[in-house]
Amino acid sequence: MFFNDFGINVNRQACHDVKPKLFKMNSRRNFLQKLTLSAVALPILSSYSAKNQEAISEKPYKGKILRVAIMGLGSYATRVAEAMESCTKAKLVGIISGTPSKFESWQRKYDIPDKNCYNYDNFDRIRNNPDIDAVYIITPNGLHRDQAIRVAQAGKHVICEKPMGLNAKEGEEMIAACKSANVKLLVGYRMHFEANTLEIIRMRKEGELGKIMFFQGLCGFKIGDPSQWRLNRQLAGGGAMMDIGIYAVNGSRYMVGEEPIWVTAQETKTDPVKFKEGVDETIQFQLGFPSGAVASCLSTYSMNNLDRFFLNGEKGFAELQPSTGYGPIKGRTNKGPLELPHITHQTVQMDEMSEIIFENKIPTVPVDGEEGLKDLKIIDAIYLAVQTGQKVELKD
Ligand code: NAD
Repeated sequence: MFFNDFGINVNRQACHDVKPKLFKMNSRRNFLQKLTLSAVALPILSSYSAKNQEAISEKPYKGKILRVAIMGLGSYATRVAEAMESCTKAKLVGIISGTPSKFESWQRKYDIPDKNCYNYDNFDRIRNNPDIDAVYIITPNGLHRDQAIRVAQAGKHVICEKPMGLNAKEGEEMIAACKSANVKLLVGYRMHFEANTLEIIRMRKEGELGKIMFFQGLCGFKIGDPSQWRLNRQLAGGGAMMDIGIYAVNGSRYMVGEEPIWVTAQETKTDPVKFKEGVDETIQFQLGFPSGAVASCLSTYSMNNLDRFFLNGEKGFAELQPSTGYGPIKGRTNKGPLELPHITHQTVQMDEMSEIIFENKIPTVPVDGEEGLKDLKIIDAIYLAVQTGQKVELKD
């Protein structure tokens, strides 16, 4: 079995990507070596300053640690758990799974006590567990809404994988439940903390690219096993768009720096047996922004070598390729290559989320429920544009 850069079951052919170089923050020597890479790294790294300062001064972090239980112990959860071993502000302390045979190895590896292990029937009891602050939901998309609402009602902060829910209605219900339970709702948008991505956003905000005219987002891979949940409409909520196309939707918003006001979209299907009714194989979509900028994007489950963002402005351009895989992300602008150090995305994400939850830190690009809802509204509009063949206007 072969997995792509996102750890998803794909054909052998799909394994083309660069192997992620894991850079653990607790390796001070690696960190300092990376620091010498480029002067341009310094402003970006300053956004990760607390951890850097600790690495340099070797002062241990004394603040509050986000104690996290992971729900759903599949392939992405495994990656998140491993990355969290290098966190200084977040720690894996609990697990929720419907497969009891997984408990032992996870408990042993992460030193998780029996009292912090739950299944899908009894996890509401987490309410009575003072040793868990947040639950990170890493289950199939179709389960996110109900699980997030139950976690919120149990009084714990919710971190939910993308897509936050199956549609905007689900997203709104999740936001309402977290609001009424007075807990935070965050979405696992790891790219919002990635250094190359943030450098391009800085350049765009400071006018270095001039007026933004165009964005292109190409997101896709050739999916393998036809029986996996990603090809099941109930569990996935669609097809490639819900899984990988969402990176282009989300990326177009943070790269252009505006919210789209209209959508057009076209679907093509070459394999209606594998991609059943309601499971999209390939969708091309276009977004229009208030400034007049436009985005042209591709979401697919039937092509490899598609992981590229391109942003064009009147004064310059910025490119990321790969743009959303697990890294290293590679960036280039009209001024030359971006040489920012690779830090395991999920390590940075979870440390940042700890600060967002406990210190109300405001990240450069939001990762809250409202952010997840914006993407879901656009995806709803893309599906509507596919069905009707019409341009769909987006309203707030
Ligand atoms: P996976 O199939 O590897 O894992 C899913 C887990 O959910 C498994 O442990 C499975 O046992 C469990 N599960 C519980 N109820 C289930 C049910 N009814 N049917 C099937 N599985 C059930 O999937 P994954 O790749 O880990 O994806 C999980 C979530 O994480 C998805 O929402 C996906 O979009 C997201 N994800 C995000 C990223 C990212 O980079 N942010 C990457 C991969 C996946």
